[in-house]
Parts: sequence; structure tokens; C-alpha cells
Amino acid sequence: MARESAHSNRLLSCGKSVGSRDTLSDSICVWKVRVKPRAQKEAVLNLFSRLSLFVTASAWLLVAGSALSGAPAAMPVLIPLPAQYTMLDGSFVLGSSTAIHVAEPAAETARILADAIARSTGIKAPVRLEARPTPRDGAIVLCLDPSRAKLGDEGYALDVTPKGVVIIAAKSAGLFYGMQTFRQLLPLEPSKGRTEYLVACVNIDDSPRFGWRGYMLDSSRHFVTKATVLKLLDALAIMKINVFHWHLVDDNAWRLAISKYPDLVKPAAIKGDAYTQAMGYYSASDVSEVVARAKRLHIRIVPEIEMPSHATQAASVLPEACCLGADGKPLPPGATREICLGSDKAIETLQDILIETMALFPDSPYIHLGGDEAEDRHWKACSRCQARMAALGLADPRLLQKWFMDKMSRFVREHGRTSMAWADRLSLGIPEGQVVHGWHAGELEEAVAKGFRAVQSQHDYTYFDYGQGPGDSAFGNASLTTEKVYALDPVRGLAPEQAKLVLGTQAQLWTELVTDDRVFEKTFPRILALAEVGWTPQDKRDGKEFARRLEAFLPRLAALGIPYFKPGVPLGTWKPEQMSETWKDLEWTITEQVNKPGPLTVVLLYQRGLHALEIESVALFEDGREIRRDNHKGRTGAAHVENTYRLNVPAPKAGATYTLRARIRSDGGTDSYGVVLLY
Ligand SMILES: [Zn+2]
Repeated sequence: MARESAHSNRLLSCGKSVGSRDTLSDSICVWKVRVKPRAQKEAVLNLFSRLSLFVTASAWLLVAGSALSGAPAAMPVLIPLPAQYTMLDGSFVLGSSTAIHVAEPAAETARILADAIARSTGIKAPVRLEARPTPRDGAIVLCLDPSRAKLGDEGYALDVTPKGVVIIAAKSAGLFYGMQTFRQLLPLEPSKGRTEYLVACVNIDDSPRFGWRGYMLDSSRHFVTKATVLKLLDALAIMKINVFHWHLVDDNAWRLAISKYPDLVKPAAIKGDAYTQAMGYYSASDVSEVVARAKRLHIRIVPEIEMPSHATQAASVLPEACCLGADGKPLPPGATREICLGSDKAIETLQDILIETMALFPDSPYIHLGGDEAEDRHWKACSRCQARMAALGLADPRLLQKWFMDKMSRFVREHGRTSMAWADRLSLGIPEGQVVHGWHAGELEEAVAKGFRAVQSQHDYTYFDYGQGPGDSAFGNASLTTEKVYALDPVRGLAPEQAKLVLGTQAQLWTELVTDDRVFEKTFPRILALAEVGWTPQDKRDGKEFARRLEAFLPRLAALGIPYFKPGVPLGTWKPEQMSETWKDLEWTITEQVNKPGPLTVVLLYQRGLHALEIESVALFEDGREIRRDNHKGRTGAAHVENTYRLNVPAPKAGATYTLRARIRSDGGTDSYGVVLLY
């Protein structure tokens, strides 16, 4: 959405109850043998060293020995942190005879677990389907027990004992989240030659703080491929994210194929902006694949069909969707981003599109209608819109917009779904039953005060297009660190009655500056912080402790093949007055950074301005004498090409001054700003 700085853009009720352990002994799925808690329970340590529990005979002795000697218990690195957990003595031995026992409704969860075990250990644990699985020695048992309703829709209990592993939940989503926690107890990757692995004994009772733990992807500004979307869903599910809000249409491009209106996804509908439209769209079969994956991962999709603004493409190609100009003729394609609200035909067309959207997303209880940032100048000038206002007795075009949003929201409700929209002029009134998506400070508070349900997406905590540190792109130079994301409390300052109306929280990835290949780096690791905001009880959260746990968790992301952002050390910058369209040298002193022999990786990164930087070489100088050079052509602008330079530094000489020199020119003008980063 448009934004000078913070703009635009933008689940399920809170199952807060935590299951009581007292009832466990009655459950069909619980071991009779209890294991005593370790003395130190909640210390959070870097557990990988300890918990990566591989096992040869000697390793086994090592681990057992530390337990016997009373060494501190190692807490696994779990994100999001469970509501309640207790480390126990002993370990479960995962080996070639370990099987996963499950009843059919949760078979998919068992298969995902089998894949995770294979990835972490190389062990191929078979999935055994049973009508009523019960605990047994040496096995992993996933047990659905509707009598455990106290666990809520998404809660679970996980017991790892020397005898076996039991995950129990009242609903299949709970088993899925128990499985996701268990896989964080496994080693990062297999160790060569090992056939058995130890899993530390633990007892966890867990359920989420909020039922809406969302992530929004803007697929309009830059097209995000289906392959990336599927991989992203897999990764989000590991963090227990359960809502995927899919921003499918905007001014730049309409990405959802609608069979009745095929022109929507055709390129060149808007002159001059055809390149982004041409990047792609999602066919019905693409959508069906994404819907199936999301279902398997217990993620709900919220499709967004933005209206009445952010609709340049729709206004350009749909019948009568474009307002009339002073001459009584439709405005030319691309001239307006608003839908004509005076046209019955346009409204019927949008309703057709919503019907098809609901059919494409049959499991989606919420349909997002956008609803924000409309301008009213075309409505004021359009004879059709004026006639509608006169017929309705409205003096203000903003009330026409409200009439339209009420109508579309009612339409969605009549089709058995709930509408959602970005907060916009809430003072004019909110359509009945609509979920309000707050993205400015105060909007969520206003919505819940009026008795509406709301999702907290305040931009300065949740807009992942903002920069996360040196080396990251930043929309409008805005900054959002992982630490800041973690500081969000979605219900801060609300009275308990109002807090109940807050469904949860959600991250937004707007893609004006984000291409398909950078979606993961913009999302991770910040989404880990948001996942914990949404899952973990507020009184169990601590920013400093989370930062340490996150650091220890990063190798797991790497092992899972999930790219994440790594900040560089800024060495220097460039700006327009240093630029030239002919080749020249720029130099930065980096004596402080050249403190040991070894590889030095330098990235020249464009940040803003009209013109890209071309690079011919980067060299290292010692007291003015060149000692290393990486000679290759690179470029950094909206896209980066070969802009990483590697220099193998010799042993530094005491007292010497080291400088970095880049041979560069700017392309087509001198308006270029950037930063030089060391990795
Ligand atoms: Zn109009």
C-alpha cells in the first residue's frame, strides 16, 4: 500500500487455558511412571551442545554421567517458549526400532514428524496407524483425546520419558503443535555413523496465548512464486504461525486468476506498469495446492481482495469499475485506483469475484476486503457516484465508501464467511461483525472499545518491509529490529473485557522492495519474535532471555534450510556528492576491522536514490600499498548482482593503516546512497 512512512497495510479465539497435569493419570495416553523433575527447571541455556544427544556408547555415558553428577539441566532451545515445561532426568533413546503410533485423523502430523526425525537423525521411523494408540516402550505415540478439552483447540501435553514419547491433545491442531515442539528437541542434523540419539526427558503443558498468530504476504508488488509460498508455509508452521493472510491484489498487479474475468491477470492492462503484472499470477490449481498445504499445516488462509481502493488493475479492466470523468467518459486505464461506487455493474462484478474467491478458499472463514486508503476525488467528480449519493441521501463521499463496505461485508456474511478490513475512518462506523485489522497505534483500541474483534498489526512492530539492521532494505527508511517486534504486547493497556476481543497479532511483509528471493530473509528471524508474542504467556516473556535463545536457535534455522537475515558491520557509506558517472575510486579506512588474518567479505549495498552503483573491483591497501584485490564486475541497485567481494587478509602489521578502495561509477546519474558492509 502507499506509504510515505508507515503505511498501509495491515484468527480464532484465545485458547488460553493450560491443561492441568492433575488429570493426566486418568488419561489413556499417559505413562503410569512419573519421572522426577530436575532440580533446575527453567534455566535457559545453550542446549545444543548438550542436547544434540547423539549416541555412541561413549556419548551415552557422557550424557548419563552429567545427569548423575548433578550438572545443570540443559533446557532445549524452544521457540515459541511453551507455557509450562519441566526438564526431567534421563533421556529417551531414539533408534532404528522407534515407531510413531497414531490414529488416522492425525496421520499427516505423524508423517511430518517422521520426515523431521529422518532429517535430524537419519532414522526412518515408521508410521503405524491404529484405531486407539496407547503408550508403549520405545515408541512415539500421538494421541487424540477429546476428553482433554481443557487443552483447548491448539494445546497439547508432551511427555518425553526414558520409556517413550507421548503427545496428547484434544484436537488435531494440538497434536500438530506438540509435534512441532518435539522436533525442536531433536538434534540439528545426523551425526555420521550414529544409529541412536538421546532426547532429553521433559514434561510440557502448552497452549497458545492467542488463537490468531498471523503472517501476511503481499504477492502483488512483487510476485512471490508458488514454490516460495509453499516453503514459507512449512517454515511458518514450525513457529506455530496459524494464519496466512494472502494479499493477492493491489495497484501493481492482480495475482488471483478469476475464471469469469480473465483480463484481471493479463499483463499490459496498465501502461507502463506491465512488467510487474507480467511476473506471474496464481491459477486455480496453484491456489488449490497452497490451500492443501496450509490445511496439512493447520494454517488458515485469509485471502484478501482489496477494495474499493488499491484497485488500479481492477478499475482498469472490469466492466464499469472505473469512475467517469468530467466529459462523462470512463477515466483511462491506470488513472484511478478506486472502484466506481456508483456502478451497480461494478459492485456485482466484485461480488462475482468474492464468490469465486470463497470457492477457491473453501476452508477460509475470513475474507479480507482491504478497505483502506481510498481517495474520494474521483467519486466527487463522477456523475454515477454523485447519482448514487443523491439516491442514498448522502452528502459526503466518505459515507458512500462506508455504504459500500457495509454492503460488501454483508455479502460476505451472507455467504457464511466473516469479513475483515484494514482499520480506516473507524469513527464513521464499522460494518456489523467485521474483524478490524489495526495497523496504526490506537486503532485496535478504538475497535475493541466499540465491541468489535480485532487483530493487532501496529506497523511499527509488525511491518517486516522495514529494515532490520545494517544490510537490510527498508521501506521509507523505517526500522524494525527483532527486539522491537518482541516488545509488542497485543493487548497492552486494555481492560480484560476488551482484551478478550483481541484475536491476536500478525506480521506483514509488503513487497515494494522485496523480490521473491528475499522473502525469507525479510521474514526470519523476526517472525520467531512475533511467533512468541502470539504464543507465549506475557508473564513468561523476557526480551533479553529471548535474544539469547534466538541466538542459539539460528543454527536450527540453518539446518532446516531456512534463510534468515544476518546483519553486517557497517564499514562506510556513499552518497550522491561522492558519485560520478565515470569510473572513480572510493576509499574507506578499516584498520580497526583488519585485526586478524583470514577472509574478509565485503558487500556494497545500494540503499536508496534513483541510480544504481556499478563496481569494477574492491582492493585492500596497507599503508597505501595494495595487498589484495577482488576484480570482478558487480552492480547494486534495486537488484544486486555479484556485489560481494572477498579478500584474503594476511597477518595484520602492527601500526599499519588499512584502507578499502572500490572502483565504482553510478549509472545514469549520481543520486545513489549506499553502505559498505563487512561480514
Ligand atoms: Zn464513480
